[in-house]
Amino acid sequence: MRRFWLIGLALVLAGCSTGGDAVRPPNLIVIFADDLGYGDLGVYGHPTIMTPRLDRMAQEGLKFTQFYTAASVCTPSRAGLLTGRLPIRSGMASDNRRVLFPDSRRGLPPEEITLAEVLKEQGYATAAIGKWHLGHMPEYTARRHGFDYFFGLPYSNDMDRVPSLPAREQFSDPKSEYWDLTLLRNEEVIERPARQETLTRRYTEEAIAFLRQHKEDPFFIYLAHSMVHVPLFRSEEFEGSSRRGLYGDAVEEMDFTVGMILDALKEEGLEGNTMVVFTSDNGPWLVYGEQGGSSGLLHGGKGMTWEGGMRVPGIAWWPGTIAPGSVSPSVTSTMDLLPTMLDFTKGSLPDSVTLDGASLRPILEGDTEAEIRNEYYYYRGATLYAARMGKWKAHFVTEWAYRADSERTEHDPPALYDLDLDPEERFNVAERHPDIVTQILARVERHRAGLNPRPNQLEERIDR
Ligand code: MG
Repeated sequence: MRRFWLIGLALVLAGCSTGGDAVRPPNLIVIFADDLGYGDLGVYGHPTIMTPRLDRMAQEGLKFTQFYTAASVCTPSRAGLLTGRLPIRSGMASDNRRVLFPDSRRGLPPEEITLAEVLKEQGYATAAIGKWHLGHMPEYTARRHGFDYFFGLPYSNDMDRVPSLPAREQFSDPKSEYWDLTLLRNEEVIERPARQETLTRRYTEEAIAFLRQHKEDPFFIYLAHSMVHVPLFRSEEFEGSSRRGLYGDAVEEMDFTVGMILDALKEEGLEGNTMVVFTSDNGPWLVYGEQGGSSGLLHGGKGMTWEGGMRVPGIAWWPGTIAPGSVSPSVTSTMDLLPTMLDFTKGSLPDSVTLDGASLRPILEGDTEAEIRNEYYYYRGATLYAARMGKWKAHFVTEWAYRADSERTEHDPPALYDLDLDPEERFNVAERHPDIVTQILARVERHRAGLNPRPNQLEERIDR
């Protein structure tokens, strides 16, 4: 039982208004795209992918320009979002196996407290819809981590590949039957192979059904799309819809379905009491060429600690609380969602839990320049590759990903970039600012001393 650690059911947030109506805690919907790059939406500058609904969501809400994931690949990134902690702390980081695979034995440790558990303790109805990828063995499923309901895939949509065709063909002209994936409702297999061209739409319909069903409760929906991770799929309706080819079609269908969710909230009169956050789990998978996305002006992509690997689109929408047309350059992260919700619900965690997130509340309520953190740590697997302090970013190691020649370079002294002046990370200014490098190294030392990581969970395999 974990009930001891939350202080009461703080459902009444601000007492009673003059009309006597209790203020309900906000609903939360997190829409988590997979492998969508910083440059892949209209509102982030893409010239040929049309995303009118996400653009409008940003116009009605807030666009973050420096929003980071906890890691540059799927599994640890998801662990970071749901725990508010760097994945290394929960054991969800490894230099050898960077994500969970179908033969993986472990998952997110049961001792970790997730955002779903925090909210469930406070009376929320909770659903995980879409890709899980935090452990598919019975003790690690979504329903063991605080979610009442699950609908989706146990892991990435490129796993369980049927080895009957050369991989290249399977990815260039993908068909659902090339993968033997299971689609699950709670623990039950309802389809195999999962019909991937239907997933974006069906995940959305599940989310809308859940929000309608729980419109009287507070609810939390974690909608983790399988798209736009290769192999790419979209429904018939979106075939050829985009000038940006298959990748653009898949993004445009996601955009359309985000609009469906916002419309449903408005229809139910829930828009004033629901925060919706749209983001991505990591940067674009560049090795797939035209089937991978774009990190826009940022350098690098998925798997890397260059900005393009970990800085992603981040849009927050909450009419009445977030002023329309807000833009925030504050250094923010998926790990901030858990502490943000604790802030709004007056919940708390045991003192023993070290969080890396911080509450976004000041930013959401109008102080868009609020500095909620001064430091950010960029891990690749279990190794710290870079650290940010204010506008400064020091790289200790740089390395490309997903290719034989990874150009791994250790930097001593570290390479230093001014991300305000040089978001593209082109000009190493370490020689001009040795004092900054020294300060960052001291911070790193302190960070390492306080890590207290759990044992690695990603490497153990199932005997078969
Ligand atoms: Mg991903």
